[in-house]
Amino acid sequence: MSPDALEIVDETKIFGIIERTKSPSAEDIKRVLKKAREKKGLSVEEVGVLVNMENAGNQKELFRIASLIKNEIYGERLVFFAPLYASDYCVNDCAYCNFHSSNKAAKRSRLTMEEVKSQTEILINMGHKRVLLEFGEDPKQADIDYVISVIDAIYSVKTPKGNIRRINVNIAATTTADYRKLKAAHIGTYQLFQETYHRDTYKKLHEGPKADYDRQITAQDRALEAGIDDRGLGVLFGLYDWKFEVLSLIAHAEYLERVGGVGPHTISVPRLCEAPTVSYTPEHPVSDEDFLKLIAIIRLAVPYTGMIISTRETAEIRSKAFKIGISQTSAASVTTTGGYGKKSAMTQFESHDKRKVEQVIEDAIGQNLLPSFCTACYRMGRTGENFMGIAKPGEIHEFCRPNGILTFAEYLEDFAPPELKVKGYKVINHFLGLIEDERLKKKTGEHLELVKHGRRDLYF
Ligand code: SAM
Ligand code: SF4
Repeated sequence: MSPDALEIVDETKIFGIIERTKSPSAEDIKRVLKKAREKKGLSVEEVGVLVNMENAGNQKELFRIASLIKNEIYGERLVFFAPLYASDYCVNDCAYCNFHSSNKAAKRSRLTMEEVKSQTEILINMGHKRVLLEFGEDPKQADIDYVISVIDAIYSVKTPKGNIRRINVNIAATTTADYRKLKAAHIGTYQLFQETYHRDTYKKLHEGPKADYDRQITAQDRALEAGIDDRGLGVLFGLYDWKFEVLSLIAHAEYLERVGGVGPHTISVPRLCEAPTVSYTPEHPVSDEDFLKLIAIIRLAVPYTGMIISTRETAEIRSKAFKIGISQTSAASVTTTGGYGKKSAMTQFESHDKRKVEQVIEDAIGQNLLPSFCTACYRMGRTGENFMGIAKPGEIHEFCRPNGILTFAEYLEDFAPPELKVKGYKVINHFLGLIEDERLKKKTGEHLELVKHGRRDLYF
């Protein structure tokens, strides 16, 4: 039976908390930041205290703690992925998206399986191993069987430079039966953004099947029922008050854990971008300052949930966000169907970071981060509760650093220009030296030599 949306996010309660925590006392702030520092996560009420705190000194402390938590849990790693748009046919009329059905002049398309394979090859040749698959909602043009064929086609592509090893999927809310098919097709994370948790705003901005708020908010329950235990949440920031959205996101995360036994695997923080044919202007634009603040707050509230930023953001904001909570990033993304290697006007929205993968990598290593193309966890069965079981005591760290090193070495061997290769190996040697377990360090060193000699896909 479908759960009641109110069980997930109760607006009256959220507004009540925002009101109650409006002017938090110094003690309250201190207490919440202290609890957060212990990596215990925060309740919705405690998140209320943080979204409402204004003092600059406290904000500095918030960023400092977010950065410490990020380092302790995720270390230096920054995982890379790229979106792949398979179909822009859409029966919904979302006010903010260029794929909306009122864009009648649009020349829509969906990829043939040959095109899927050639787009996949391009992504592989850019160095990617992880794809986020995107579709508009259209039961005729992109039904679940089409989605599954696309997934199969991507996984089938094997090139001398490797293959895509993990496909995360972002499709519209659907039925348990459809989610079962996705699960059987070996997807990684199922991502679905609520867009806004505010029911009236949601209603105002959507038309078509997606306008059903309850269908959207209960989708992750059906996904879990179908066995998908890596689930990704998100809000499209700008549609409604960010404070309300952050509290609701955390309420949703709490709910997933309480009812399903496992919290969200990831939280994405897309912020509204300009898009052709979209005249909607955000009623609640989120400033850069607030955007970074909300990332830090989410980091504190759900320390074991991966956080994703996309190329919707500028290089400058992305760099700052990497320090305070983000653990996964897209790079060199194209938001048009079939748009890799080919110009197309049919973009979903405008990106603000158009740099090549190697430039984003150069920037990341300049910040002492370790770019990672790792996809080991789900292939080792470390998903859902099982994943959290090792993530929470900090054991995941043990695998991630070696896996980050090995996949970054693959990137350097197969794709990096000579100068970047030199810089990259310096970073690798530095982090190899930091592996505490001597046996694991030795094994990683041995694997690294194998990678240099042409072996691929070694992981722990
Ligand atoms: N069509 C599916 C859906 O709407 O759930 C799949 C995902 S859609 C391709 C990916 C996401 O892009 C949406 O969930 C929405 O949050 C985001 N998006 C749409 N228009 C946007 C815009 N103008 N700026 C930034 N993000 C946008
Ligand atoms: Fe369609 Fe998704 Fe765009 Fe809405 S956000 S118009 S559902 S592609």
